[in-house]
Amino acid sequence: MLFSELARAFSEIEKTAGRLDMTDQLSSLFKKADEKQIDKTIYLCQGTLAPSHMGIDLGVGEKFAIEAIALSSGYERKKIERMYKEEGDLGLVAEKMAGNKRQMSLSGEKLTVAKVYDSLMKIAKSSGTGSQDVKIKLLADMLNSANATEAKYVVRLVLGKLRLGIGDPTILDSLSVMESGDKSLRVKIERAYNLCSDLGLVAKKFVANPKAIEKFEITPFSPIRPALAERLPTSEEIIEKIGKCAVEGKYDGLRMQVHKKGGRIEIFSRKLEVMTKMFPEIVQAVAGLGAKEIIFEGEALGYELKSGKYLSFQQTIQRKRKYGVEAMSKESPLRLFAFDLLFLEGKDYTTELYEKRRKELERVVKKGKNETVAVTEQIITEKPAELERFFQKCIAAGLEGVIAKDLGAPYVTGARKFAWIKLKRSYGALADTIDAVVCGYYLGKGARTEFDFGGLLVAVYNDELDRFETIARVGSGFSEEEMGDVEKLLSKIKLKEKPKGLQSKVKPDFWTELKYVVSVTADEITLSPMHTAGMVGETGYALRFPRMVAVREDKGPKEATTVNEIIELFEMQKRKR
Ligand code: ATP
Repeated sequence: MLFSELARAFSEIEKTAGRLDMTDQLSSLFKKADEKQIDKTIYLCQGTLAPSHMGIDLGVGEKFAIEAIALSSGYERKKIERMYKEEGDLGLVAEKMAGNKRQMSLSGEKLTVAKVYDSLMKIAKSSGTGSQDVKIKLLADMLNSANATEAKYVVRLVLGKLRLGIGDPTILDSLSVMESGDKSLRVKIERAYNLCSDLGLVAKKFVANPKAIEKFEITPFSPIRPALAERLPTSEEIIEKIGKCAVEGKYDGLRMQVHKKGGRIEIFSRKLEVMTKMFPEIVQAVAGLGAKEIIFEGEALGYELKSGKYLSFQQTIQRKRKYGVEAMSKESPLRLFAFDLLFLEGKDYTTELYEKRRKELERVVKKGKNETVAVTEQIITEKPAELERFFQKCIAAGLEGVIAKDLGAPYVTGARKFAWIKLKRSYGALADTIDAVVCGYYLGKGARTEFDFGGLLVAVYNDELDRFETIARVGSGFSEEEMGDVEKLLSKIKLKEKPKGLQSKVKPDFWTELKYVVSVTADEITLSPMHTAGMVGETGYALRFPRMVAVREDKGPKEATTVNEIIELFEMQKRKR
């Protein structure tokens, strides 16, 4: 497929706001791609080269792009820099310069999707001495063969700034529409996606043989999209909903999905990024488990060797900042509390019931006989009072609450279902904190002017419409130091316009990229004409007296609280009263 076709589709999608139109545009685009190109086409549509667990990041520095545009157009770097200042977008600069070249390309070769993808991959992978020149040359070569629209998107891609707002749900729908004309195949395609977290790979298999997608299998080292917990406000409601269940402490640490096959071990984070190098003591312990091939999940907590005390989530994640891994793994090692089994010795366990998964997990972990990996403590009960006592015991021990698990449920990949129900310490009238995406910020007024920061505009995720909707302006809960840090962080991702994929009726002083997730608490959820979360007619949901709790480094924007969860929390709040 020619890259010009992809660029033309990007141009159309950029002008499209509705999910249905976007789905139609994408399905027509996907129809043009064969088995060899569909994966590349999909990655490029999402502004990436591979799923996040492969750890291949696009995003060269702006300086490289400026050099490359100068080189291919024959103009001075200073002129390109001046234009960039005016336009605020190097993609637009490249678009203008493509029609305005001082020198003509000699090759006259047309760009194809495969060629652009391969060059971007080379740029992403080249490192070390001389790599800067290689990157500039590769980009300049592409620009030499590009028309104006192609040049705009090549530059945005290479900078990691495509931002068309195409989410996974829209791609899944589009693949189904491409094949059947409607969304009827979405569930089957999504199941395959949940088992490997790689939309490109799923699309490739689907295009090769649409029927075979039902037989898609788990492969170690392709992470499985994690199961998530629903909420209920009381022990009584939990027992009423799922009856006799297992109840486990909700440990506030780092979620890990561990894959082992033979001598190779990999650890994936909640966002499904590879984190193996950060946790040498866990890798060592997993090597000694009683299984050759296994995928299991657990929550890792740091503890202080001297006192034996567990560390808070904030202290535990210090480990993610690469330095001092060895030292930290000795001073405050991690202990992994295994809570679910997904795959064992070549067999998919996600379809097995929890009771059976837990039994096998216990067997494998106990065989390992090491202290670093243990199974979560649990009780089995059908009595609300007993559940409540266990909950209180967990709170007293410093845990966040409990998770009740339906003994008769399979592992629900990539979805929030009542197979797991969390009961947490309450936050005002709310049964839980809300994880919201920062979409803009305000400048300080009065006492806060000094820090130049007056609060965040935050949004929740509408997974049905694949877009973000605002829910609050968060102005308190920050220390003075935090305010300064947040302002610094956000000033780097400022946008001139509202980010694509965001619905908002309010306008902050600055818009930002949809990148950071923050945990927020509030007095209650109210109805408001100001915010677009779950808006019907003129009324949406909003937070009353919202306060910042922490930045959630372990979550990406699509893992933010959804509009449906907000509606549930709103209903629960009424019941609690
Ligand atoms: P929260 O913000 O409350 O941590 P979350 O949005 O990260 O929730 P949920 O799906 O609501 O995730 O809750 C499940 C999370 O709880 C898991 O991601 C896991 O990290 C954590 N967890 C802690 N202990 C357990 C346990 N025993 N079983 C399952 N998950 C557990």
